[in-house]
Amino acid sequence: MAPSPPTVDDVNAARDRLDGLVVRTPARAYPALDRLVHARGAVGTAVVVKHENLQHTGAFKVRGALNLVQRGRDVSRGIVAYSTGNHAQALAYAAARAGLPCTIVMPRNPNPVKERAVRDHGAEVVLHGTDLAAAASHAHEIARRRGARLVSAGDEPELVAGVATATLELLEQEPHLDTLVVPVGGGSGAAAACLVTAALAPHVEVVGVQSAAAPAAHDSWRAGALRTRPSRTRAEGLAVGCGFALTQQVLRDRLRDFLLVDDDAITRAQHAYLTAARTVAEGAGAAALAAVMSHPERFAGRRVAVVCSGGNAREEELRRALTCDAAGSAA
Ligand SMILES: *Cc1c(COP(=O)(O)O)cnc(C)c1O
Repeated sequence: MAPSPPTVDDVNAARDRLDGLVVRTPARAYPALDRLVHARGAVGTAVVVKHENLQHTGAFKVRGALNLVQRGRDVSRGIVAYSTGNHAQALAYAAARAGLPCTIVMPRNPNPVKERAVRDHGAEVVLHGTDLAAAASHAHEIARRRGARLVSAGDEPELVAGVATATLELLEQEPHLDTLVVPVGGGSGAAAACLVTAALAPHVEVVGVQSAAAPAAHDSWRAGALRTRPSRTRAEGLAVGCGFALTQQVLRDRLRDFLLVDDDAITRAQHAYLTAARTVAEGAGAAALAAVMSHPERFAGRRVAVVCSGGNAREEELRRALTCDAAGSAA
């Protein structure tokens, strides 16, 4: 049984808890970015970027981690998590602030930017397995042995409630949105966006985006049942191989649409962020913009917020983005 999703009261409580601990990230428009999406066929689209790449630890996930740790339920014996990076960084950061031990299991060959950051926050890093599923079972084992709290990547109401504070902010910053596009891995960010818009701005449609090279959440949503899928995307923030019950339940009720983009489209969106918005997005962070660039007609004439969810790109990833064929074969 999945735990119940958070309520709007839980989200408001999270906002109070996070006051002064998280960055109120900017929501910005860029004429050059609008020109670029217009040129691709998104006629009349106005794009607003919600800059969670400028959040502490360089990704939105720290909102959830701080909410979970500050609330303090079952964490006294420490925290264990499995992650390709940003979930790990977020929990390591939050645990360090609270003086709690933190152990992170990462699949081998992690993004070095993220691994370094986790260690810099004082967490123990265990490299295990070649994918998130293998890391997950090892993390469960460590948590069981130590009596520590295992923090899942998807089925954690406190993470969803914390992450949802980004949507609260965005609705204040941009009261006239038509569409909110959110990248999806485990689905906490998209579920959070769905819960907040349903309660406070029901006219806003929420659209999820996944890499076609790791479509587990997308396929679970379309099937109405949890699915496991291969995860071969370069965007490690989206490299999740299964649907999660809690987030899927929310997405099923409320997500308007779920799009797939290929990894090269994500790289072109990273290029667009670098050149048109002068900002660094990691692959997962660029997926929402990639959806607008890849499905322009879907967003024509709309005021669209894209969540730039993280900025922790590897050097080789930035090099690829800067040298890619930005027009793309499909343009
Ligand atoms: C984790 C992550 C995602 C996916 O978020 P979920 O809440 O797992 O769906 C998207 N972008 C970045 C940068 C991430 O770190």
